[in-house]
Amino acid sequence: MRLTDKFGRAITDLRVSITDRCNYKCVYCRTGNEGAQYADLPMADYLRMVRVLVSMGIEKVRITGGEPLLRKGVVDFVRELSLLRTVDGNSLDTAITTNGHLLADLAQPLKDAGLKRVTVSMDAVDPAKFARITRVENGYQNVTAGIRAARRAGLDPVKVNCVLLRGFNEDQIVEFGKFARDEGVVVRFIEFMPLEEDRVWSPEIVVPLDEILQRMSQFMPLKEIAHASSETARRYIFEDGIGEIGIIAPVSHPFCGHCSRIRITSDGKIRTCLFSQVDHDLYGVMKRGSDADMAAYIEKVVQQKEARHHIGEPDFQKPSRSMVHIGG
Ligand code: SAM
Repeated sequence: MRLTDKFGRAITDLRVSITDRCNYKCVYCRTGNEGAQYADLPMADYLRMVRVLVSMGIEKVRITGGEPLLRKGVVDFVRELSLLRTVDGNSLDTAITTNGHLLADLAQPLKDAGLKRVTVSMDAVDPAKFARITRVENGYQNVTAGIRAARRAGLDPVKVNCVLLRGFNEDQIVEFGKFARDEGVVVRFIEFMPLEEDRVWSPEIVVPLDEILQRMSQFMPLKEIAHASSETARRYIFEDGIGEIGIIAPVSHPFCGHCSRIRITSDGKIRTCLFSQVDHDLYGVMKRGSDADMAAYIEKVVQQKEARHHIGEPDFQKPSRSMVHIGG
């Protein structure tokens, strides 16, 4: 069976959040205080949900959070995932999105457990600025050590995600271009979306795709290369062939028409869009019923997947949860 929504979009990508706790307090994501938290589920429960979804056509699973590497059992979870097969009999494409703080020690065990790829979030290549954004001292050393350990372990490619905020880190664009070239990682800039706990988003804070390209081209011209239609990032290489960057532009260039994703939150709810107003309680169905009941529920829920987000439109409503509680 293949999950398809009512607009004909095949649902092949799953993001599963295994905790909404985080050891960073990035200014554009969390409040400085301890916010509300949802319960983490036993890892076996996430595994059962993923297994059912994979039997319905999921091909890629990205583990996220909160901060997924805080969760004990993450390596075993990856090992279990890597035993699953897609409906076509292929191995799953598995990835983790992490802030990288604990990655230096975990990169090799994760690779050995079968993880294919890792994305590390990092919003400045200047240590002082990094500390101001994350509100954590000495994180920069840990994260760069984590990135290097991931490369040594053969997690390939290592991607680095940077959310740009006007007046805060747009001076890092060119620096990140150099970082991509020096470190052999793919740096991807993400437009800031209205998903933060503190409700500070405004269109003026977003640094849009065109501006990122223009600033980077002043450092060195870029050439666009092909990207898969379901891929969120537009891809570019530098003119001399050294270094790749990507731009994820959900605000200025939405890609909802090609969206192939659904999410499971750390408390076992399905979200069909980052900007959904509702959660769907897969965990509740799982506790009461069989795998077949779960599959029937998932099929019904996927039909409710939103056509698109409405960022920047008069009828836009903030989603019912912030990014850290959804799983980015
Ligand atoms: N803790 C992990 C990490 O830092 O990658 C995983 C969870 S984090 C919520 C996932 C990603 O969402 C990070 O790359 C983060 O920068 C991004 N993010 C958080 N809030 C965002 C927002 N309002 N707009 C765009 N990206 C956001």
